[in-house]
Amino acid sequence: MNRKDPTGYYTLLGVPNTASAPEIKSAFRRKAKDLHPDRNSSPDAAREFQHLNEAYEVLSNPDTRARYDTLYTQIPQAKTASHHQVAPEPVVCSCCKKVTAQPRYIIFFQVTSFILLTIRTPVQGIFCPKCAEGKAIQSTITTWLLGWWGLPWGLIYSVSTIFQNLLGGSKPNEINARLLTYQAWVFTTQNKFELARAVAADAQDFAKKTKNDDGRKVLSLAEEILSALDTKTPIKRLKNVWSIPNRAFYVQGSILIAVAALSVGSVAYVPTETNQVSPVAPSTQPDTSSPPPPQPEPEYVRPTTADNGVPFPSTSSYIDGYPIQATDGYSNVIVDNSQNDSDVFVKLFTLDTNPPAPVRVFFILAKEKFTIEDIKAGNYDVRYRDLDSGALARTDPFDLREFETLEGIEFSEVTLTLYKVYGGNMQTHSISENEF
Ligand SMILES: [Zn+2]
Repeated sequence: MNRKDPTGYYTLLGVPNTASAPEIKSAFRRKAKDLHPDRNSSPDAAREFQHLNEAYEVLSNPDTRARYDTLYTQIPQAKTASHHQVAPEPVVCSCCKKVTAQPRYIIFFQVTSFILLTIRTPVQGIFCPKCAEGKAIQSTITTWLLGWWGLPWGLIYSVSTIFQNLLGGSKPNEINARLLTYQAWVFTTQNKFELARAVAADAQDFAKKTKNDDGRKVLSLAEEILSALDTKTPIKRLKNVWSIPNRAFYVQGSILIAVAALSVGSVAYVPTETNQVSPVAPSTQPDTSSPPPPQPEPEYVRPTTADNGVPFPSTSSYIDGYPIQATDGYSNVIVDNSQNDSDVFVKLFTLDTNPPAPVRVFFILAKEKFTIEDIKAGNYDVRYRDLDSGALARTDPFDLREFETLEGIEFSEVTLTLYKVYGGNMQTHSISENEF
């Protein structure tokens, strides 16, 4: 078993562990077609299909993929370590494969849009400082060129993404703490004790920012390494090669300034033109007839009622006034909003009509789940509005099926997790107001 693919998810999808998010998505679609129980009747196909779905669920979410990618950075227990024949391999940059004392797991994003469709794609991996700079600049340039053209999310996502990349992308604390603790441990096995102390001190900084049990475990591991190597001399901290501003910051910042200057230039150009049309009124006074400042985008105000004017309920439930349709079935769908700290306004859409139509309309409080019961077999998706931000999204389409067996009728049970729309999860797609 490949240590960097512990449960074989990448192998199952037939992609390398450095595959990009779009590569993973298309590999999944291809394999899912081959293994779909409707097409493939071999007895293993159903099990493999399920395994494939599991692999995709983990690898398509940037946070769970980051965790999976770094599972191998576990320090073996002391007992097994004495039988450990092979020297442990250090963490290397997933891009240039070089060993670095300061690797980081980073998630950048890039935005691409096509009119009403906007996709926010994660670009992630373990990077050395140089490769990270390359990825940040590349993602930002792609966003500048291709991100804006979607309405309205292209613009909104592009701005947040450009600033996030400018500040070095997202570096999950717990994952980086684990990565660096492991790297420090590898250096101790190579007798590079001073370096190990410096790296463990970096790990400690990340671990201190985590709040959960796993984070505390990593913190105590890092502290163990530090106390084992304690020489009563101060730790020689590594020069912080990740500090900002770095080269990538200046490159991205210059693009930002150039674009800002160009747009200010084009606004300033307009009054000059009007002056030329009316040369009779030359004025040394500042031109008061300059156009009004651009109107800010209307700010989103959280609605208190659903589209039909009925106030949102105080518990997770169906919203009064909407018919409950597609009820003559057996399937259940659990819509899980427990990952999200915003209430959501949700619609289950049937995709079997043209255009797709809502069949269940309901409301889920932040951190709660809601089960839609007795749904007719068919093809559906779930669309929802994050009520805090106003953002709209939909899930991937899914099938609900029923068939009679000797034991009775078998039906589908589906759980859908709603992530925060800004979280950039690939399984959600932003949609326009018309599609909701
Ligand atoms: Zn590199």
